[in-house]
This record gives sequence, C-alpha cells and structure tokens, in this order.
Amino acid sequence: MELRDIKSMTLAEIQQAFAQEKLPKFRALQVYRWLHRGAESFGEMSDLSKELREQLADKYYISVATVEKKLVSNYDNTVKYLFSFADSCCVETVVMEYKHGFSICISTQVGCRMGCTFCATGKSGFDRNLTASEMLAQIQSAQKDLGVKISNIVLMGMGEPLDNYQQVLRFLELVSSEEGMHIGMRHISVSTCGIVDKIYDMADRRLQCTLSVSLHAPNDALRSQTMPVNKKWGVAQLLKACKYYSDTTKRRISFEYAMISGFNDSDEQARELAGKLKGILSHVNLIPVNDVTGSSYKKSSAQRLHAFCAILEKHGVTATVRRTLGSDIQASCGQLRRRYKEEVNSIESTQPN
Ligand code: SAH
Ligand code: SF4
Repeated sequence: MELRDIKSMTLAEIQQAFAQEKLPKFRALQVYRWLHRGAESFGEMSDLSKELREQLADKYYISVATVEKKLVSNYDNTVKYLFSFADSCCVETVVMEYKHGFSICISTQVGCRMGCTFCATGKSGFDRNLTASEMLAQIQSAQKDLGVKISNIVLMGMGEPLDNYQQVLRFLELVSSEEGMHIGMRHISVSTCGIVDKIYDMADRRLQCTLSVSLHAPNDALRSQTMPVNKKWGVAQLLKACKYYSDTTKRRISFEYAMISGFNDSDEQARELAGKLKGILSHVNLIPVNDVTGSSYKKSSAQRLHAFCAILEKHGVTATVRRTLGSDIQASCGQLRRRYKEEVNSIESTQPN
C-alpha cells in the first residue's frame, strides 16, 4: 500500500481519516501539532503509544528536507540551503535576517517550466512539483538548523507557484493555520511570472497574502523576448488582472523589475512603465539583474537604477531600488542548484566505469 503524505493533510482531513480508522478524535490534533512543530518521524511523538506510532508509520509518511549544502554570506547573515527530499530531488531555500525578524524564501517546484531566459532555474528545466508538506519542510529544517523562528515567507525560490497552484493553496492554508505554524497571510508573499487565470482566482478567494508580479519589461515586444509566458498572457492582460487583484483585495501589488543594461532600463521605458501602472495600487522593486552563467545580460549601473526609480516616482509610482542580499553566495534563484548539478555531473563524468 502506498503511504499517504500526512503533513500535506489539513487537520479536518486527518480527523476524517482517523475517524475511519476508529481512532479517537483528539489524536488527530495531537499528531497535527507534532507535524507542524517539525517532527520528522512518528517515533518522536512521545505522547502517543508505541502501538499507535507503528500503526501510523504503516499508513503515512512525513516529508523531510535534508540539508545537502549550506552557505552563509560574509556580508550579511543571509543563509542559503540546498535541501534534498526522499527522491533525491534538490531545491534552494534562502533565509534572510531583517530588523523585524527572519524571512524565508522557499521553492515551490523542482525546476520550472516557464523558461525565462535570465533565470538559472528556468535554464535548468523542470523535474516535478513540490507537495505542500515539502514547502513546509523547508521552513522547518531551516528553523531547526538556525535555532530561530521564521516570521515572513516569500514564495520566490525555484519554480512558479501558480503553476503548482493546488499545492500552494494547500501550503498557505496549512502554514497559516492556528494549530500549525500560524504565520499570518499578511506575512506571506507569492511571486508569479504572470499566470493570469490564477491571479483572478486568488483575488476571488480574498487571500490576504501579498502578490508579487515579475514584470521586468513595460511592453510585449520586450517582455516576450525574455519571458515566454508573455506570449500567452500579454502585458495588458496581466496588468488588468493585477488591477482586479488590488481592487478586490485592497492589497498593494509588488512589481519586480530586473534591470538589464541597454535592454529595459532607459528613461523612455521608465515613463512607459509608469503610464501602464497608473491606477493600480502598486510598488515597484528595481533589482540589478543577477549574472547567470552563460547569459549575456549585464546589470544596469547603480546610477541607471536610481535614475529609473526617480522617473517612476515623478510619475506617481512608488518604487525602491532593492538592496541585494547574499550576493556572494549565489542567493538568486536557481544558481546554487545549477552549480551543484554541474559539480555532480562533472564528478560522474570523471568516474571510471
Ligand atoms: N517563478 C516566480 C517566483 C520565482 S523567481 C516568478 O518568476 O516570479 C523569483 C524572482 O527572481 C522573480 O522575480 C524572477 O523574475 C527573479 N529572477 C530570476 N532570475 C533573476 C536574475 N538573474 N536576476 C534578477 N532576478 C531574477
Ligand atoms: Fe520560473 Fe520564475 Fe525563473 Fe521564470 S523567473 S523561469 S517563472 S522561476
């Protein structure tokens, strides 16, 4: 019999399953609390009888994220993990320390299908979706390893969250649940390259999380060159969905804009962007594009970033130049895993048969 992923189940689902197994109802809550406090085996659940622990282990498994690599930045306290799961698939997770606490950037897929040309994850292809429990496990392993409590979550690691929508919704429900980690939706941010139908769905569900949209270009001609998703949903369609999201939820949308020298960073493009964002409750984050091995993109200068930012502000669009954390540890999405895979491949290719 195939084991069931118990940490991806809601409390109500565990209660229902336990009822069918004729287990007392309070056991479900006990187990749920253990799972969300980070128990990695049923053996750890010391207030359950040995018999019950064995019974559970026969039916269910608990997802665990194992540290394969850990890098700590010399400049700030940013920590980057490469975690592996039971099937040896690896993802990246980054923990950053801010004044108000610890923030974690988790992955939602192993790889990504979206193929953005500037992105290390996009270049590495797609292996599989993560389960909700594997998203939780990244937070739990990081907390355990660092001995800290994480207070903010961004779904901005490897993968496109809205391309794994059902598991992401489940993760949001679990991580914010009172008996779980209880991290409020207002402390969670979901980043997307622009899967428009799911943006409408999120708005209609009135999820209180922040929506972060990777825009990176003010028009279709430019955006389609780097982001294939734009051929399905163009800039106008995407911004219409964003306006619907901010109108419906009254939440400010965060637009990510990676500045690539000579490509999307001119004064004219700043004015074009400001014009298109008019009327949307928004904030633009300007980030110098991160060099990804094998790509020809060059970062815009600090001067260009600030000039671009000033034009947006002048036209009434709030914007900031984001400081880059952990730049010495390849903190940008997908870079560590790519290097790890290359290292493993080169080790394998030098092994005698
Ligand atoms: N798939 C989602 C979330 C993961 S990517 C998305 O695209 O939004 C996380 C963020 O990193 C996105 O804003 C993405 O555009 C950005 N990103 C990817 N590669 C980058 C690079 N080389 N330099 C700067 N930002 C990059
Ligand atoms: Fe996927 Fe986001 Fe990278 Fe694009 S930027 S390839 S959507 S992870």
